[in-house]
Amino acid sequence: MPGYGLAAAQAQHAVHELAQLLAGHGVAVSYAIHPVAGRMPGHMNVLLAEANVPYPQMKELDEANAELSHADVALVVGANDVTNPAARRPGNPISGMPILDVDAARSVIVIKRSMGHGYAGIDNELYTNPKTGMLFADAKAGLGALVAGVKTLVG
Ligand code: NDP
Repeated sequence: MPGYGLAAAQAQHAVHELAQLLAGHGVAVSYAIHPVAGRMPGHMNVLLAEANVPYPQMKELDEANAELSHADVALVVGANDVTNPAARRPGNPISGMPILDVDAARSVIVIKRSMGHGYAGIDNELYTNPKTGMLFADAKAGLGALVAGVKTLVG
């Protein structure tokens, strides 16, 4: 799940490197593209295309949500509002916005620098969900650490 932080960190090549490494070990990888992720329409598609991510791996909202319910791991890279379960409830700035159902995955990893807010300026309860692990880092640095970690574990 890429978001604005992926763009801010220019981490598109790093995420593709991790995906290729995992795919080389038999992991099925998809990218979940929310229509308003980032700061302009198509922002994530443009970035991922720049890194040569194959178009068939980029899933739009509905298709991504269908996959998330049987995903082992959801890796959120610099996305916040587009993953916030608060959107399912009334009474907040993102109420009613369709979101990526990240919390449907078996486990969740979020790479961002802090517990800080996104564009809408509200807390994200995904970050305190017991199935979520927070990797506090710049997106590019965090993905680099994951690549190094995977290489250490599986060669
Ligand atoms: P958000 O703006 O909700 O969150 C982005 C997150 O990225 C922040 O919480 C920040 O957390 C993190 N971040 C920033 N820099 C870095 C970095 N270098 N490395 C890692 N993480 C970083 O992004 P989303 O993409 O989830 O949502 C987009 C929002 O923008 C929506 O609310 C949408 O409505 C709005 N919007 C979208 C437009 C569009 O056309 N796409 C246009 C106008 C608004 P931290 O500081 O902790 O790192």
